[in-house]
Amino acid sequence: MNSPLTRADWAARADALKPETRPFIGGRFVESRSDATFDKYNPANGRLLARFAVGSAADVDAAVGAARNSFESGIWSHASVDHRRAVLERLADLIEAHAEELALLETLDVGKPIRDAIGIDLPLAVGILRHAAGAAAHLLGQVHPTDGRSLALAMRGPRGVVAGIVGWNFPLALAMQKLAPALATGNSLVLKPSELSSLSALRLAALAAEAGVPEGVVNVVPGIGATVGDAIAHHMDIDMLSFTGSSATGKRLMQASGASNMKRLVLECGGKSPNIVFDDAPDLDLVADGVMARMFWNQGQVCTAGTRLIVHRAVKDALVERLLARAGAIRPGDPLDPETSFGPLISAPQRDKVMGYIEAGRAAGARLLLGGEAPLAESGGFYVAPTIFDQVRPAMTIAQEEIFGPVLSIMDFTDTDEAVRLANDSIYGLSATVWTRSLETAHRMMRDLRVGEMVVRGTGTPSPGASFGAMPLEPHGQSGLGIESGLDGLAAYTALKSVQIFV
Ligand code: NAD
Repeated sequence: MNSPLTRADWAARADALKPETRPFIGGRFVESRSDATFDKYNPANGRLLARFAVGSAADVDAAVGAARNSFESGIWSHASVDHRRAVLERLADLIEAHAEELALLETLDVGKPIRDAIGIDLPLAVGILRHAAGAAAHLLGQVHPTDGRSLALAMRGPRGVVAGIVGWNFPLALAMQKLAPALATGNSLVLKPSELSSLSALRLAALAAEAGVPEGVVNVVPGIGATVGDAIAHHMDIDMLSFTGSSATGKRLMQASGASNMKRLVLECGGKSPNIVFDDAPDLDLVADGVMARMFWNQGQVCTAGTRLIVHRAVKDALVERLLARAGAIRPGDPLDPETSFGPLISAPQRDKVMGYIEAGRAAGARLLLGGEAPLAESGGFYVAPTIFDQVRPAMTIAQEEIFGPVLSIMDFTDTDEAVRLANDSIYGLSATVWTRSLETAHRMMRDLRVGEMVVRGTGTPSPGASFGAMPLEPHGQSGLGIESGLDGLAAYTALKSVQIFV
């Protein structure tokens, strides 16, 4: 998707916006039961964007009650797969029809460049929805061989009330990663967006109602983790919780599940992903473009960002030279300007946290090659410049911890064993990119890297590959647990029931 709008057009639309901030429960926007509020700021200028209720356990009870009633009524849970697919396809059409409005909400909320919001985030969300809507019909049960007098089968049904708690880096797409599989398989949903990015999820709930999703099947409760999130985590009537966010919060949710009703968990958490470049890598300009995209897209606020560049010594200098030229040419700017490719970070605390990591890298003796400063302070926005550290050692904090900002750490190697050791030296195991033309090296990496997904790049130009939402992702290590996306991810939203019939 793209848009002919100019910066002035977007700014005028932003001024006219009156975004909804109230919870969406039982098919309508309602007042929160909590009086306390928090302020949400526009990352591009630091100005107040919206004021939300902090939310309460009573809000969550109301949302879970509405979800439970809708589930038990069978209006969605017993509807045919074809009916659910038709409604969800209608929702996808409506999202496309409102693409500019939703993209604007994303950019104002999280500071991502408007051209990415409309060109990447919107198609991503729609792709995830259309895939789940269509794939649900292919989620089959099992029929077992019998002796002719009985029937043994394992059937799948929706789990019931599913909750989603998500982070802020791709607000609409992360919300969709919970809504699409939950609804396609017949569940009712209670969604808590991040307190830093609730606008598009609330709009999505209204569009779902417009598309024909029955009331109570989609509920959205904005608020903070300590109130709304905690009440969801400990709720006794939520059957499953699917989470996207930090590993620290993921671990808390495991404890809360154990302390409450053993709700089923899917946890998609943090990463510190390696980008490994072998000395037979193709054209280094191609590699440099790929490393840049994997590292600095969304200002580095991507769970799968290739934040550790592990490069063969023979090609290191030539690659670093190309990276410095590209990263040095990036001009952070106003995300409402369609020319901008690099915006602010999500919040002042996130900017300060990233600057703290940069300081820790310097103090530990890593060599700062580029960036390291917080530019455009006069804008009031929360910017951090693209930053590159060389001579990073594996034990350094900047090599181990997820920074979630535009900071690249470079390490080098001479043989394949060393590359594998460096890549696996992490508590995380989300994603990896490998640059090689050798099939042998590719196979070795596929076998030995402890990650849930991998991209191997030779000379080929990237193509769209599998459609959005089609590939399953099972995070390894402390990057999470359970499976998201693909048929396996869809299956996680269903419960198996084995039945033997002897009549
Ligand atoms: P976060 O864990 O701080 O917050 C995520 C969500 O959890 C928010 O909605 C928050 O309100 C809620 N929350 C916070 N404390 C809670 C508590 N005690 N109980 C219940 N809910 C609570 O994470 P974040 O800063 O919003 O997001 C960044 C993180 O998300 C990074 O670690 C990133 O790697 C990860 N992420 C992972 C994926 C993936 O697919 N693996 C995708 C995007 C982001």
